[in-house]
Amino acid sequence: MIVDKTLRSAEALVRAGLAQPARLPELEKVAAQYAVAITPAMAELIEAADDHDPIARQFMPRAEELDVLSAESADPVGDAAHSPVEGVVHRYPDRVLLKVTHTCAVYCRFCFRREMVGPAGLKSLTPAALDGALAYVESRPEIWEVIVTGGDPLVLSPRRLKALMARLARIGHVKVVRFHTRVPAVDPAAVTDELVAALKSPTQAVYVALHANHPRELTPAARAACARIVDAGLPMLGQTVLLRGVNDNPETLGALMRAMVETRIKPYYLHQGDLAPGTGHLRATVAEGQALMRAIRGDLSGLCQPTYVLDIPDGHGKVPIGPDYLSADADGAVRVEDPNGVRRPYQTS
Ligand code: SF4
Repeated sequence: MIVDKTLRSAEALVRAGLAQPARLPELEKVAAQYAVAITPAMAELIEAADDHDPIARQFMPRAEELDVLSAESADPVGDAAHSPVEGVVHRYPDRVLLKVTHTCAVYCRFCFRREMVGPAGLKSLTPAALDGALAYVESRPEIWEVIVTGGDPLVLSPRRLKALMARLARIGHVKVVRFHTRVPAVDPAAVTDELVAALKSPTQAVYVALHANHPRELTPAARAACARIVDAGLPMLGQTVLLRGVNDNPETLGALMRAMVETRIKPYYLHQGDLAPGTGHLRATVAEGQALMRAIRGDLSGLCQPTYVLDIPDGHGKVPIGPDYLSADADGAVRVEDPNGVRRPYQTS
């Protein structure tokens, strides 16, 4: 079936053939709690007959989402505790998040901001709130980088993005602007020349970080969209969430990292899944993540290596979580593990 517009309800998912009609009550129950949106590009990638399809796992609602673990929280990375004004999260001295919209092109079932995004989530910034957010950035000379996020900022029109960039360009101490987005993969046609031109800055370095979790997401159309961004002089970074049943094996994760590098996207972070409500079925363990990192370290070019990171719950910040290749014997002698897992002696002096 050809899907010509974004699917936004349980009924639309069934009508498009992405789920059997018998699943309608389950889908409706989950959709009543968390936003649903699947773009035509992602709907076409889903193999509906495959119960384990990695694209469906990311976007199709499932009953497990209603099982909330006690460790899970509505604000797992602690945005609220670090928000001095509406729309700004200032967790680290030299950079802020600027959350301009809470709308996304797709709604991911594992989203760490799932309680904030979507039609029932927080509202997009009003013009007055955006003024307040930019005034905050302007008043803090230590802010070197503004990370424009959401939601997904690339759902905004080129006109609004251009206006935002013009205002950021007037803040002299902001040297870097970074956009976080899924749009080049999930809605490549939206990455028009006009949109790319709107992201450029006359004075600042602009980076675009693409969130993608499976190599199938990097379709020819998605790669062409990324090429339009990179060819315009905007370097791209890759962000991936480690997801059970999606990319938690070395072959898939390695293929994704290679697909990114082939597309001129430098893999940046592999995120440990955050403790967002109802996402336990999609979260791999840290030990599994470390084993995967070891596996791809041995097999793949250094260009394909992301840093495996964990956002410490309650807003305590993001840290790399290994694996660690250095260890010490009982007598204090240092050992370093080679890519084949053999511990080698290493003398520092
Ligand atoms: S695109 Fe990002 S912010 Fe939007 S639902 Fe997915 S993970 Fe969440």
